[in-house]
Amino acid sequence: MDLLNETKYIMKKYNISAAKKFGQNFLIEDEIVNEIIASSNITKEDLVIEIGPGLGTLTKELLEKAGKVIAIEIDKRMLDILEDRFKLYDNFQIINDDVLKVDLKQVIEQNQIKHAKVVANLPYYITTPIIMKLLEDKIDLKSITVMVQKEVADRLVTEPGTGDSGAITYGIRYYTEPQRVIEVPSNAFLPAPEVNSTVIKLDVLEKPPVEVKDEKLLFKIIKVAFMQKRKTLLNGLSNSNLFGSKEEIEKILLELGFDLRIRGEKLTLGDFTRIANYISMK
Ligand code: SAM
Repeated sequence: MDLLNETKYIMKKYNISAAKKFGQNFLIEDEIVNEIIASSNITKEDLVIEIGPGLGTLTKELLEKAGKVIAIEIDKRMLDILEDRFKLYDNFQIINDDVLKVDLKQVIEQNQIKHAKVVANLPYYITTPIIMKLLEDKIDLKSITVMVQKEVADRLVTEPGTGDSGAITYGIRYYTEPQRVIEVPSNAFLPAPEVNSTVIKLDVLEKPPVEVKDEKLLFKIIKVAFMQKRKTLLNGLSNSNLFGSKEEIEKILLELGFDLRIRGEKLTLGDFTRIANYISMK
């Protein structure tokens, strides 16, 4: 049975319709499933955390490759399906909860497996909070292979300081090396979402590419610079009142050799780091 018919069959058997509020769009293209599995490079040494297994389409393949799969699913209706489908696997565990509430560090530490990797076709309504949680909570992860909305992927994988960057672009580069895996048209899902998608892979870095004295300050500066994207960096930082008066910020930027007309979105991660390190020394 192909994936489309298998998906329809499971939905009918368990009387399930896709819940929009949980961002449910089930994958129905074998080729895309294969690409996600191949690019995530899972081995028996790996603990896979799957966010939102849904009917178990990716889960089924992950269970064959991984040492263990822990699937975190918010929708109770999926539990019977997943338990039925995978009852013969002793390397499978389900957590029925909102992934944003789960202590992933603890989940990983309870397992004596070498590497933890995240693989997911993410629910799009909370893509950014999930990715930020995975990175900022300093969870010991090797890689994150996820399907996201195409526009979000563009912002995540772009080079900081270019057109598509947003505040999150810098967070991604601070913690990971991102790459695009495959573009996915909306008809690869049931039901088809209104947007196109992209699978990306984030290889988590052992240490950040820049040396920052105060990480929190760095990300506060980046956030403020992007809150007012159209404004100059000088106006953005001084309007926030967080880092000193306009004259003080002007002095800092000039001393660091920045053009006072530059906009935040033009800065590299290294540029923001120089500003943060300068301010934290004052
Ligand atoms: N993995 C399946 C697939 O590829 O066909 C389903 C992907 S669907 C885009 C997203 C899944 O995430 C759904 O199963 C949905 O119920 C689940 N989900 C939504 N919000 C969640 C949350 N806060 N925590 C955990 N799972 C969530």
